[in-house]
Parts: sequence; C-alpha cells; structure tokens
Amino acid sequence: MPTPKRIAILGFSLETNAFAPVCDEPEFRERGLYYGAEINDAARRPNPIIGGGICGFYKIMDERQSWEPVPIVFAAAHPNGPAAQPFFDHLLATMRDGLNAGGKLDGVYICEHGAGLATKDDDPDGTIFSLVRAAVGPDVPVIATLDLHANVSKEMLGSTDVMIAYLTNPHVDSYERGVEAAECMIEMLAGARPKAASIRLPIVAPTVTLLTAEGFPYGDIIRRGQALVGPDIMNVSITAGFAFSDLERAGMTITVTAREDEAKARAAARDLAIACWDDRARYQTRLVGLEASTQQALAVARDSSQPNLLFCDPADNPGGGGRGNTTYVLKAFVEAGVTDAVFGVFNDAVLVETAFQTGLGRQFQATFNSAETNEFSLPFAANVTVDKLSDGEFVGEFGMVAGNTVRLGRSCVLALGGIRIVIISVRQQCLSNDYFTHFGLDAASARVTVVKSRGHFRAGFQHLFPPERIVEIDAPGLTSPNLINFPWKNLPRPVYPMDPETQWVPPPA
Ligand SMILES: [Zn+2]
Repeated sequence: MPTPKRIAILGFSLETNAFAPVCDEPEFRERGLYYGAEINDAARRPNPIIGGGICGFYKIMDERQSWEPVPIVFAAAHPNGPAAQPFFDHLLATMRDGLNAGGKLDGVYICEHGAGLATKDDDPDGTIFSLVRAAVGPDVPVIATLDLHANVSKEMLGSTDVMIAYLTNPHVDSYERGVEAAECMIEMLAGARPKAASIRLPIVAPTVTLLTAEGFPYGDIIRRGQALVGPDIMNVSITAGFAFSDLERAGMTITVTAREDEAKARAAARDLAIACWDDRARYQTRLVGLEASTQQALAVARDSSQPNLLFCDPADNPGGGGRGNTTYVLKAFVEAGVTDAVFGVFNDAVLVETAFQTGLGRQFQATFNSAETNEFSLPFAANVTVDKLSDGEFVGEFGMVAGNTVRLGRSCVLALGGIRIVIISVRQQCLSNDYFTHFGLDAASARVTVVKSRGHFRAGFQHLFPPERIVEIDAPGLTSPNLINFPWKNLPRPVYPMDPETQWVPPPA
C-alpha cells in the first residue's frame, strides 16, 4: 500500500463590493465557517451547504487517490463589503498553524472566490496563496479553484500551479471545477509540473453582460478557450473580474496552464486575448427603465393572454454585495397597482420578527428598512397581511441550489395589494423558484415575478422563463450595471466599455 498523500484543504470565499459595508465573523458564520474536521463532514454530506468545489474535490480524491485530507479552515460569506482585518488575520493565523502543524504535506487545494478585499489588505486572496506557497515550498502542488469573477493578482498566479475558474455564469459548475482540481492534483502527484501564462485586458464589463449562455460574448470566448484544452493545455480560465471591488488589477484575465511547455500557454493566452478584445463591442447592457418596466408589469398583470414575465433588479443584487432591500421596484409596482405578482427575496430581519409577533393572517403597518441606513435602502411604509411564516430552510431543486441546503433564516410572506413578498433574515439573492415554492408561491402561475438578483437566478428559472421573457430593470443601487455612475478610486482608466476610446496592444508573439 502506498502512503496516503496528505492534502491540505482551505479556502476563503468572499466577493467584495468596495461600496458595501464591512463584514465580519457573523457574516461568515451565516454562510459557512468550518474548522478542521468539520470540513470533511460538510464536504461528504448529502445536500451540502459548503462550497461545491470542496465537495467535487473530495468525491474524486476519495474515489481515485489514496489520500488523507488535512482540513484546516474554510470561510465563506455572501458577497459583501471588505472583510474586517482582525477576522481575516485570524483566518490567516489558522491557515499558517494548520499548514505547519507537523507532517509533510503532499499538496494543497484552495477553494477560493478570488474577488476578496479585507479592510487593510487589497489582495487577501493573494496573501493566502503566498502564505500557502511559503509554507509548503516550491515543489508541492498548490491548486486553487476560483469564481469567474475573481480579480486575479500576480501573487495568486505566482503562488499556484493551477488556477481553475468556473466556466458558467450563472455558476452551475463549482462542483465540476472541484472535480477538475482533484484530477489536476492526481496528475501532479504523479509528477506533472504545469506552467501558466496570463494576460489581462482593459475590459471591465457590467456583470449582466457576462452570461455564458449561447449568444453572449463571454460564453463564446470561454468556449473558444475550452476547445484548446487537450494533451498540451491542461486548463484555460477566463476570469472577468468583479468591477465593484474597485481594484487597479480589475479586468478580463486569460490564464492558460500548459502541461509542460510554457510557450504553448503564452501563445494560447495571446490568441484568446486578441479574440476577446476584437469582440469587446458586444459587452453592452440591455436594461429597461423603471417606468417602462412598471408599464410592462401592469400590462401582463391585466392581460392574462400575454405570457407572464420575470423582472430582475440587478442593481440590488445581494450576490454582488447589494443589501437586498431597496424599495424602488416594489414601490413603483405597488403604486401602479400591479397585481398577481410575487416578489423575492427582500432582506429585512426586523420586518420578519414583526410579522412573527403579529401572527399569521393578521394585518399590520409595515415599515420596510426601519433599521437600514444605506443611501439606497430607503424606508417604505404600507399596510400588509402576514401570509406565511417559516424557518426559511429547504433543499433546492433548481439552478445553483439544486440538491443544496438553503438557509434564509426566519422568513415570512407579506401580502401587499396584489403582490406577495418573501421577506428573509439572512441576506442573499433569489436563486430559483424554490425561494417561492417553499412558501406556497409559484413564479409559474404568477403574472409578474420580481427577483433581487443580477443573473444567477436564470439557472433556477430557465424552465419557466426563456430569456426573452426576462426584463432587467434599471433602478438605483449598490450593484447597478451602469458602472459609469460609481465614484471609482482605483479602477484603471480608460477601461472598456466605460471609456470607448480604450486601447490595447497585444504582447509580442
Ligand atoms: Zn461569481
């Protein structure tokens, strides 16, 4: 029997919106904070909550490799502001201690988002990757999975052997990328020594334009990259970055990892970068103004012969750091008299508690956002009826939460005129129709559905709404796709498409 390979498991998963408030340990506990052996249990349980990459990694390693996981720490929060530095420092110390706890490590798997900020570190992901490399030395395989919104830094690139980014947006392949990470790890344990090359383009695209379905430029370039994967090329990862992190290193980044020959990685990265740049004009938004959206909602609510519509509010996307509680759309739809509508999910823990105290079937004067002070999270008062009360926990059936346990915290449904609103306590985006059916509502039968999400909802509603029946509303918010309106401090300018005059010259062949 060969000695089992000892592989350290760790990760930090935070997509930081620099304009959102600081997040701390409670926000990580809310989504997932696992120490040591807790990671093993979470990765191997049915209907997991932990990051899909870890589950995929464990599955393949368990099946194909004699190995001993050395689980250290995994911390994931819903997209938010920067991580509080003391908590991040605590995570770093935990990682350092775990990596140095004794016993030689044969490899490290890092399950990372890649678009994090801490309050005093503008590259916490790079800090973690460097720490790992320093602890294990140059010869031990270090493999990371990343969200495709990662803002890849030199430190991240220089400290890993392979970086594997998601290929899908909505992200429905995090598990598969964990599988791929395990396959690369097994290859490296058998002696492979891959080499990577990376090119950044001055393209910072609004996230609504970064879908990977047919017909979208980002999907096209990702597919073009995947066609190169084969005996010479181990991985192609095209990370679009996350504009709202407001970083100098923002921008579409093409990273190619060759099995042996770095020149092949460089050539492939260059070809893809040129193709991506030549296609840049297609990264344009298709938002519909609030007034026009309201009229569309009213029209389908009044005329049942028209197909029902799904409206999304990308400017208040909790999946990008939005607070999930702006009332622009709700107020406009209520005042216009839109009926037969479901609206989800609205983040307001105070309102949920008031609903619980009021009781099922009873009316009360609700104030949305009584506790929030964000400039976009304006209060809104209305007379409502408590339609449903729930612990807010279910296993999803559709899209990104299929097979996963979802925790919304204590939740309720409030009826306001002809609109039923799902209110939650743990801020997150509405990822699928499960977020309605759990409460006895259904987007399939509602005339009008409104979701607070930028694009991940699409995977969880695609069986009900083809793209032409989805309306992206242009309302104010922390995650508005109108990037030109934000007070950027660090984003490199000029940058496409904000600055149409942006130039780029390919590196020499
Ligand atoms: Zn993402």
